[in-house]
Amino acid sequence: MSLPATPEAPAASTAASTAPVPTPALAWTHRFATLGEAFFTDNPPTPLPQPQWVAWSADVAATLGLPADWMASAEAAEVFTGNRLLPGSRPIATVYSGHQFGHWAGQLGDGRAIWLGEIDTPAGPQEIQLKGAGLTPYSRMGDGRAVLRSSIREFLCSEAMHGLGIPTSRALALTASPAPVVRETVETAAVVTRVAPSFIRFGHFEHFSAAGRIDELRRLADFVIDHHYPACRQAGGNPYAALLEAVSARTAELLAQWQAVGFCHGVMNTDNMSILGLTIDYGPFQFLDAFNPAHICNHSDTGGRYAYHRQPNIAYWNLFCLGQALLPLMDDQQQALDALEPYKTLFPAALQRRMGAKLGLSEVQPGDDTLVEDLMQLMAKDAVDFTVLFRRLSGAADGPLEPVRDLFLQREAFDAWALRWRERLTGQPGFDAPATREQMRRTNPRIVLRNHLAELAIRRAREGDFSEVQRLLKALQAPFDERAGEDDLAALPPDWAAGIEISCSS
Ligand code: AMP
Ligand code: MG
Repeated sequence: MSLPATPEAPAASTAASTAPVPTPALAWTHRFATLGEAFFTDNPPTPLPQPQWVAWSADVAATLGLPADWMASAEAAEVFTGNRLLPGSRPIATVYSGHQFGHWAGQLGDGRAIWLGEIDTPAGPQEIQLKGAGLTPYSRMGDGRAVLRSSIREFLCSEAMHGLGIPTSRALALTASPAPVVRETVETAAVVTRVAPSFIRFGHFEHFSAAGRIDELRRLADFVIDHHYPACRQAGGNPYAALLEAVSARTAELLAQWQAVGFCHGVMNTDNMSILGLTIDYGPFQFLDAFNPAHICNHSDTGGRYAYHRQPNIAYWNLFCLGQALLPLMDDQQQALDALEPYKTLFPAALQRRMGAKLGLSEVQPGDDTLVEDLMQLMAKDAVDFTVLFRRLSGAADGPLEPVRDLFLQREAFDAWALRWRERLTGQPGFDAPATREQMRRTNPRIVLRNHLAELAIRRAREGDFSEVQRLLKALQAPFDERAGEDDLAALPPDWAAGIEISCSS
């Protein structure tokens, strides 16, 4: 398969700039470090040889106040590989624990992520981390590194999720080094610089709670409430129960967004669950191609614990772990149970709202759940492509149904469903077909980071050509737009895509 050349690849080479560009002075705050040394270890990154730019997000750089000409510099490539520290940075690795695949795994921690610190930005405080920047006290059996393959996937998917409007850690930078990294074969190293208002995980709470270190648990919970959930203290009840309820609400929204876009996370361990309800730790994730509700995207997940249709329940299970961890700060167990209860209604309501919007329905009515469910069943039966289906359906709001119908084997069953959909759609008060199509096109993406798209960019990158990573980045940042030269990214996947196996190896 040949791909068109990148029209506007950003300057992305260590040789891009020769004139000296001043090193930016950032407004470091390092609030996490105020928690005290029980929570982290000072740990500088370990340099990598010959760092090279792969890509960076101009959007994230602008948010952080990093000038474009500095980003293009060799110094920036050194900084975001961990070879040079920005003045004022305080590199640390934090400790957390967690449940992995349903079992208590004990202490984990930032085994290859190194926090450079937190800075003030117009978008609020942001923590900056290098992933793959070397050993930490929490590396256990690992080497502290990340391979180019998985780093390209994390970099692109972070920006893709943001483009889709789904809460996520962002990706600022991606650099590569020829340093060998041993996985199933010998690969090469890369570093992703990722950014979020907080990288605190459920596992951070589990760590101190499981060890009976209640003072530290309380300090952590107070920190999160003060900086991220101040309303929890203002409500008057137990603030930690309020925190659990607020995190549950955000997680319910997040899961509805994942399900509605066909996103499988792949490793929903409690150490990969963000206390802010962000998508974090991109590993063997996948956007569904052919719809199969039981799809397992992680080749290492032999039991299918993290299959697509299980994700909402797994999130709830993980919230129970968070509740268990916070229990010592509550008056009784009932408080935790009460805080967890709303998820059971919030998640289905959020999903129904989002699935309704995908069908062009401006508000949820009785019977809409059946309409959605029946479509999903037809899609599953005929293994219809998730993204292409909803995108084509958007065009059918005021256009012909044939392009959608063509995706189905069971045409009569689809026709019967389409009749019900059209009736419900056009029966909406003040129905405006072109406006509905537009709304559906802003809801149903044209381009998602399918496995095979990432795979093609990875193959090129391994040959030293990063143009496909840059082209994908640009497309994924505006996934709802109809743009020339991107038809290959919006097309049905090739047959070989079904054979791609992505595991925990990264
Ligand atoms: P993950 O499955 O990527 O969320 O990782 C689970 C745990 O293993 C975390 O504590 C990671 O920091 C750690 N880890 C994963 N890969 C490595 C590696 N190559 N070197 C050190 N630690 C790692
Ligand atoms: Mg992780």
